[in-house]
Amino acid sequence: MKALANGIYAGTFLSSLDMAGISISVLGIDDEWLRWLDAATTAPAWPNVLKQPPGKPEARIATEVRVELSSPIGKGAQTEAGKKTKRAIEAAGKALIDAEDELTEMDRVTGDGDLGISMKRAAEAVRDAVGSYPLDNVAATLKALGHTLQREMGGSSGPLYGMLFLRCGNVVENSERTDLAQWAEALAQGCRAISDLGGAKPGDRTMLDALDPFVKSLNASAGKPSREQLLSAVEAAERGAEATAQMKPRLGRSSYLGDRVLGHPDPGARAVAIWLRAACEALLPL
Ligand SMILES: [Mg+2]
Repeated sequence: MKALANGIYAGTFLSSLDMAGISISVLGIDDEWLRWLDAATTAPAWPNVLKQPPGKPEARIATEVRVELSSPIGKGAQTEAGKKTKRAIEAAGKALIDAEDELTEMDRVTGDGDLGISMKRAAEAVRDAVGSYPLDNVAATLKALGHTLQREMGGSSGPLYGMLFLRCGNVVENSERTDLAQWAEALAQGCRAISDLGGAKPGDRTMLDALDPFVKSLNASAGKPSREQLLSAVEAAERGAEATAQMKPRLGRSSYLGDRVLGHPDPGARAVAIWLRAACEALLPL
């Protein structure tokens, strides 16, 4: 609710579904700000919304149709690689759905409590869409996965996860190699894309603090791809997620809480460790 000199606005201006407690924001305003706040707008969530909906109905329908047409059409997995890709995606999603309570509890302490729900919603959307992915084409599947996550995950994680898999898909598409080093390169470029988009670097207490150690571990273990190589990279991601407990938050909702989050790991990094382990175990034997 916002109380202004010339009235009161009531509505949902910031939602935190599973957050314990309340949040109060104070904004210093002057006459010019008041004029802007009271101006009529087409922004649907603001109380001064104009009576008629923005845009023409035909324009909205056209957008929906375009989104539908751009969805990937797949025939399921025919090849061994396609079946493995499907198993890895499904295992990652199931692990996130199973971890909903754990992630919610962690995010209650360090954020706004919605990470468990967001991850579960995205995982369910992927589970429903995976059959339509072009699974025998790994690069195209990664991009399709990125599109689903961008659309369904919401919050700041949605665009970041979307970007991660879109970039991975592009790198895999343009690479002739199919070994673990190629995956490490794809994920490394995905991490860079996340940094560019969100402004975070490793050490800032984000999902990158699980992804980056995973990539570095894959790169460090030279030689033939092995079960041990992959599992030690997963362990590096898990250690990285644990280590965020000692990192100061610089971005995102956690940064509002400052030093109070110290001692608690970052749930976004923990979520990465959870789906990485599930996906990698589903890929074995390599
Ligand atoms: Mg949140």
